[in-house]
Amino acid sequence: MAAFAADGAALAGEWPGASLTRLAESQSPPQDGALTPVSWQVQGERHPLPAGEPEIWLALQASAPVWLTCQRCLQPLALPLTLDRRLRFVHGESQAEAMDAEFEDDVLALPRWLDLRELIEDELLLALPLVPRHDTCPQPLPVAVGQSELLGEDPGVDSRPDEGAKQPHPFAALRALKSGGGTSDPDAG
Ligand SMILES: [Zn+2]
Repeated sequence: MAAFAADGAALAGEWPGASLTRLAESQSPPQDGALTPVSWQVQGERHPLPAGEPEIWLALQASAPVWLTCQRCLQPLALPLTLDRRLRFVHGESQAEAMDAEFEDDVLALPRWLDLRELIEDELLLALPLVPRHDTCPQPLPVAVGQSELLGEDPGVDSRPDEGAKQPHPFAALRALKSGGGTSDPDAG
């Protein structure tokens, strides 16, 4: 990994969508839709420091159109997911954690071997929206249909408010109980 970055080496490739299993599991493609390949490229960089070992950076780009479910209309939503990140690698987990809290860039511990597929899949999973939604949903919302059916089934409930008004007021009943108790003859007991 350090040698790769020191050479300023670049790698690029494409993976079948189904080969990133965690990303594939978080998608919901339509019945006739296949997962789209994930294309990616990385570029290693070595940043010399005034003292100590040079810093290792990795520029990472990836694009993966993913199938999600719109949380408004529950229809499939094709989202072009893209990554453009720069990751900074330091020696040792503890230093990585300390620097990750301090800097805006992602700081990771420099591994001997870097599993690019796992790293890129991690980053893509983090980039997924929490509540995916169409900008404009393609179909009328199913909720509107459900509401009209509900009104048709039971039309009488809210349409005759007069009946409710004629019911005795709950406090009236309470008052009747109280006054009944008050007028009971104490001599009868
Ligand atoms: Zn939608």
